[in-house]
Amino acid sequence: MRSGSLGVGLPLEDDRQALFILRHHRRFPSASHALVEEIGQRIFILTSAASESMDDRLVFFHEREDSSFSAMTTTPAFANLTLIRHPLVQHKITLLRDRRTPTKIFKELVDEIAMLMAYEATSELSLDPVTVQTPLEQATGFQVSGKKLTLVPILRAGLGMVEGILRLVPSARVGHIGLYRDHDTLEPVDYYFKVPSDAAERDFFVLDPMLATGGSAVSAVSSLKRAGGVRIRFLCLVAAPEGVRRLGKAHPDVQVYSAALDRELNAQGYILPGLGDAGDRLFGTR
Ligand code: URA
Repeated sequence: MRSGSLGVGLPLEDDRQALFILRHHRRFPSASHALVEEIGQRIFILTSAASESMDDRLVFFHEREDSSFSAMTTTPAFANLTLIRHPLVQHKITLLRDRRTPTKIFKELVDEIAMLMAYEATSELSLDPVTVQTPLEQATGFQVSGKKLTLVPILRAGLGMVEGILRLVPSARVGHIGLYRDHDTLEPVDYYFKVPSDAAERDFFVLDPMLATGGSAVSAVSSLKRAGGVRIRFLCLVAAPEGVRRLGKAHPDVQVYSAALDRELNAQGYILPGLGDAGDRLFGTR
């Protein structure tokens, strides 16, 4: 998406650079198309971030307003990954990594981080205008379009992320996917799968704290698609490059939201530096 035609390989000082690109795009669309993508009424602009040389910032605009929705950090090498860099999320992830963090606190932290991440991951849900009657007069507002959002934790560690997100979206439905690894083929196999029947009309958030090899994630998303799911996001706390790549290759339409992109996997498939076995630390089963 990068282009020299606007001279915008420069670091982003603030959102004014994105506004500049937006204005330029309206006047000379062909000169800026490499930086700007229009999807429906939303315009996505990728610019370089001044503070993070490794990352770019994705800035969202609404076509009719010039109002910036929110700037999220994206990583050029992983177009399917959105990193949640909120300071509270980063603080809590660091506490999670600490081996001294006891089970009770670990569980509370996973719950809180999932809620904070869901706030970011829901920022692109589409809205329908509605009118309501205030005590004084009629007002125009918005409601999230479509059927209720559906959370799909991958058993068992994904369960730890459900309650926190439900505090933010109490009307969300909750499906479940259980997977085990076949001893012979080493491939993940569904042993439990239950989601609402009208899957095609819903936004799904698949939940698993760790995106490691990507095997379970690919399998869970494939099952969800076979059931009719089309709008699917994947939320994890820590991702490995291998998992992000594998999920992106198998399901390029599925955006991954993660609080951290770690270095690599070890020979046993654990994320390094990671936080250990998320299921065992959540449920105290080590
Ligand atoms: N699952 C975990 O719980 N932790 C890892 O590091 C990888 C997969």
